[in-house]
Amino acid sequence: MAEAGTLQDAFLDELRDTYDAEKQLTKALAKMAKASSSPDLREAFETHLEETRGQIDRLDRVFESLDEKPRGKHCDGIAGIIEEGKSIMEEDFDEDTLDACLIAAGQRAEHYEMAAYGTLVAWARCMGHEEAADLLQQTLDEEKAADEKLTQLAESGINQQASDAMQGGDEEEEGEEEEEQQPASRSRGGRAASGAAVAKRSSR
Ligand code: FE
Ligand code: ZN
Ligand code: FE
Repeated sequence: MAEAGTLQDAFLDELRDTYDAEKQLTKALAKMAKASSSPDLREAFETHLEETRGQIDRLDRVFESLDEKPRGKHCDGIAGIIEEGKSIMEEDFDEDTLDACLIAAGQRAEHYEMAAYGTLVAWARCMGHEEAADLLQQTLDEEKAADEKLTQLAESGINQQASDAMQGGDEEEEGEEEEEQQPASRSRGGRAASGAAVAKRSSR
């Protein structure tokens, strides 16, 4: 009977999975940067693309510190997240809405990575791989910062612009000004969901 796999085996598996995920993400981030309309969003994706290349180098050093040859093993999880991002980019959205969707897709990827690196750091520490743990922690911090940057971009205008684009479209279709006052002042409150309700109310 073959010996049961150890935590060390599982750790190496996860490292190979993550190595492959980072490689897939370098291609995806380049496409997401190109698809962005907001210059700030494009810059955020480009900056994280550079960081991601550094993360791959860092994983090389992690493997080295463990006397293992760096190699990847196809990551189905990130492949699925990237696939969903691709279908969003193929949809016919206006620029602002597409930017909001790119942020949503990007944050799915960052959270997936945060989960992976969180586990890797914890396991590395448990097994006494201090050098590996420190390197992996640096990447975990970068993933968290990238996620926060995307939240900040979403909340500092991109989501609201996408919401306003939708309300602008409704107003043109309605072509009515009379019932505007109340619902419009309500929509200033910034809740994205109010757009549809406003349109229904004023068409009554
Ligand atoms: Fe990464
Ligand atoms: Zn994976
Ligand atoms: Fe990342």
